Amino acid sequence: MVGTETSGNYGHAGRPGEVGGSAPGGAAPNPHQNVDGLGEDSYGESNYRGIKLISYDNIGDKDKAFQNAHDIKNALDKAPQKDYEGLKELYVTGGGSWLGSSCYFPEHDSLLLMDGWLSKTSDERERSLLHEIGHRAQFVTRKQDFVDFRTHGLKKYFYDVIDSKYSDNYKPSQHAGETFAQSYALYLCNIKQPEELNQFWRDRL
Ligand SMILES: [Zn+2]
Repeated sequence: MVGTETSGNYGHAGRPGEVGGSAPGGAAPNPHQNVDGLGEDSYGESNYRGIKLISYDNIGDKDKAFQNAHDIKNALDKAPQKDYEGLKELYVTGGGSWLGSSCYFPEHDSLLLMDGWLSKTSDERERSLLHEIGHRAQFVTRKQDFVDFRTHGLKKYFYDVIDSKYSDNYKPSQHAGETFAQSYALYLCNIKQPEELNQFWRDRL
């Protein structure tokens, strides 16, 4: 999913400064502290490879926060660094089902993970986050690859890679971007998809 200023209430997720950025209750030792610097608390901000992670969910539930951070790290580890490097903000918001489970906002270079994402399995979470990184590639890091993708007419595989539960949510004009992002995620997760899509990414990643 790609978000725009008009596709949803972006501000609803909360912006830094609107909600306190530090953990409530002070600095009690946290046995789960840090997954390589990510997710050091269930509520607040941390940093991972230069990405500001802002977590508003699971207040007080450090096990869930740790699992979230773990799954985010695993997903990023599957992606080429250039595709997530410099991402400005990654929000774990809970709530906010107005845009599905996850969403990338090109205007803000921000990525939101919402309730739908939190209720997924770890494998699904990785795939979903990588799909959004695929949208970042579309808009930021691999613009020429996206031109090539359209030139090759690869949006024809939209219905092969997008779950039929969600395919009706997208307008035809979105099919190229969604197919690009999803095939990027499926390739990185080594999940079966049409060979022409695998070949496209094998040549580029
Ligand atoms: Zn998408």
